[in-house]
Amino acid sequence: MYGSSYLTEQDNTLQIDGVEATDLAAQYGTPLYVMAERELTDRLATVRDGFLTKYPNTYASFASKALTIGAVYQQVVRHGLGIDVVTGGELYIARQAGVPAERIYFHGSNKSTQDLRYAVEEGVGKIVIDHYGEIAQLEQIAADACQTVNVLIRIVPQVIGGAHTKIQTGGVDTKFGFSTHDDSYLEAVRAILASEHLVLLGIHCHVGSQIQDRTLFERTARTMMGFVETIRQETEFTASEVNVGGGFGIAYTKDDVPLDFEQTMEHVMTIIEEESTRLGIERPRIGIEPGRWVVANAGTTLYTVGAIKEVQGVRTYLSVDGGMADNIRPALYGAVYETVIANRVTGTLREVTVVGAACESGDLVAEKAQVAEPASGDTLAVFGTGAYNFSMASNYNQFLRPAVVFVNQGEAREVVRRQTYADLVTCDLGLENVRS
Ligand SMILES: *Cc1c(COP(=O)(O)O)cnc(C)c1O
Repeated sequence: MYGSSYLTEQDNTLQIDGVEATDLAAQYGTPLYVMAERELTDRLATVRDGFLTKYPNTYASFASKALTIGAVYQQVVRHGLGIDVVTGGELYIARQAGVPAERIYFHGSNKSTQDLRYAVEEGVGKIVIDHYGEIAQLEQIAADACQTVNVLIRIVPQVIGGAHTKIQTGGVDTKFGFSTHDDSYLEAVRAILASEHLVLLGIHCHVGSQIQDRTLFERTARTMMGFVETIRQETEFTASEVNVGGGFGIAYTKDDVPLDFEQTMEHVMTIIEEESTRLGIERPRIGIEPGRWVVANAGTTLYTVGAIKEVQGVRTYLSVDGGMADNIRPALYGAVYETVIANRVTGTLREVTVVGAACESGDLVAEKAQVAEPASGDTLAVFGTGAYNFSMASNYNQFLRPAVVFVNQGEAREVVRRQTYADLVTCDLGLENVRS
């Protein structure tokens, strides 16, 4: 049910790995992010067993922007994956969570000098160079620190993937990476090879997010090996590493067909083996960067239903006590979610528009939701919210960021506490004299 076998129904109530959703709502308050920890660890185990141990000379990094919390990082590392970060803030949290620096990869289309310096000082495993200016910038930082830095270059493979234009990154017109429709990427390779402190390992790409079509990964793999070939011909540099990025799609709704991770990797690895043989090179080290696929289906958000307003002949609005502050995705890119009344899973269905409580008409949670006899005070569950919800949350309207609770075989544990009003003013210097 709802993208995870740990979501079940008993006595017409929703259970999350053996805990009644309504009990969680009562104990921790709403809105509440609940993670079925076993869904998370099962998927991490699939990445480990279906990729890392199955194919030697591979690595996987969790794209930490999908769910940036210590408890997740710790499970990620325990399962043999590394962590991708794109800012000093994400790096800081990873280090605080005890992630070894060499297992952290630093990405980003516009890394600040400060962040790059921090990454070099920490000794991160790799930095993915995204634009030409960054080569000199990083060379200087590495020279100042008397260190050599392992780098990949991100290139634009011109393979377009992703469920929405805002999450497509592989086409020509993108802010990410070196263009391949001209010689930009070759110039980057030459400049790095000529640098003193940068060690070029290979190439990286990430073509989009929420990709449900396996053949897109196959095309990406083939295209990337084509670039390995061209770079070798043009510069005599043979990539020892190729990273094909993330974007593995999941099921948000009953209509979505999730990507089969293991099968996808099997096809990708076969193509890469074949291409390596064709080029007469050793198969490069292959990296992947799953984010959403690891965490999304483990997550469920619980809300309390408040106002119910029927606009005669138009629609019924069902308001919940959160919304765009804890889940911006419907407003940002029309994301669609399944919902259910946790305390009345079945009953006479009614179509409602689930909206948030923020002062924005665009504060939508789910359109055309079919829910059973909704009433004020019900607990509404929204499924598949483990990725890009908590990590994209804001304090708009000064909603407090919800707590995150891990549930595992009938036990619940809070891994992030709910914010308090005091948290809202910790940085507001204008309130200093009010406080003292
Ligand atoms: C966002 C991102 C990912 C992860 O994307 P998902 O769709 O969550 O798997 C991986 N690599 C890079 C470079 C990214 O920007």
